[in-house]
Parts: sequence; structure tokens; C-alpha cells
Amino acid sequence: MRCAFCDNIDTQVRDSRAHSNSHIIKRRRYCPSCGERFTTIEQLIRREIVVVKRDGRREMFDIEKLRRSIKLATAKGSLDDGSVDSMANTIHKQLENRVNHDVNTKTVASMVMKRMQAVDDMSFIRFAAFYSDRVTYSDFLSLIETVKEVGAPQDGPDLFTVGDVVKPKRGRKAKNS
Ligand SMILES: [Zn+2]
Repeated sequence: MRCAFCDNIDTQVRDSRAHSNSHIIKRRRYCPSCGERFTTIEQLIRREIVVVKRDGRREMFDIEKLRRSIKLATAKGSLDDGSVDSMANTIHKQLENRVNHDVNTKTVASMVMKRMQAVDDMSFIRFAAFYSDRVTYSDFLSLIETVKEVGAPQDGPDLFTVGDVVKPKRGRKAKNS
């Protein structure tokens, strides 16, 4: 690390302090050339997570977007901001720990749903309705009934296990008829 004052190449580390609960280390440095002291911060660079959308488009994972979608599903205020934050942060950490850093939106949605169903049924159903492209309005009503009767599905591999649980009473009309 170059000296912040005289640009000398060799500086010495005099003290290192790790922050508890974070991957940050502060180092106190001394420059033997000019005698000045300065502090550097060493921080873990997290691997980037890429979200693969339904149409195949890829975009960088954005925790703000995740927070917004969780909040949308809980518009009635069943989750306070702190709970939304901690849910989003937990999911973010889980995604970082995956071997594969490409993740599809279904997987992210199912991770949210697993946490949401523990919080409240209504938010869970709203979220399921937003993120499943197979859930029609009648599926949605059946889903509500299913959750009322047997509780939300416990641990599906992804969102669409929800569709498998629901058995709509009426057949869906073909779009092109
Ligand atoms: Zn210096």
C-alpha cells in the first residue's frame, strides 16, 4: 500500500483490527519515509450473483428489488421494515453461499415464500400469485382454500410445486379458441 502522504511504496502495518460480525479489517499503517500514519480498510469482495429471468435475460442481483417485492406482497404491513430487511439479507447470504452464482427468479421466489409462509398466510399467497406465471385467478382462489385447509406447502423445490398442490375445479379455457 502506497503512502497516502508521500506516495512512498513501502508502508508498514502497525495495527490490525477486525470488526466483529463483518468481513472488514482496519489497518493502521506507518510510512518510514515521511513518518505519517494512515488507516486502510480491507473488505471482502463478494461474488456477484446473476439472476436469470423467465425469458432468459440476466441481471445483477439487487437486494433493493428483493426488498421491494417482499414489501409488495406484505402491503398490509404484516412485516415491519426490519423483518423485511432481515428476510432479504438472509436470502442474499444464502444465494452467496450457493456454488452456482447464477440463480433463476423461481428459486429466489421460492426462497422468499418459504420464509413468508412462516410469517403469514396472506403474504405468502400474495407473493405466490405475483411470482407464479401458472397461477390464474381460479388457481389463486383454490390456493387460498388449500392453505386454509392444509397449510402452505412445506418445502417444494421451487415455486411451481404450489401449482401442483392446487387442483382447480374448472378446466382452463384455451387462449386461442
Ligand atoms: Zn510517506
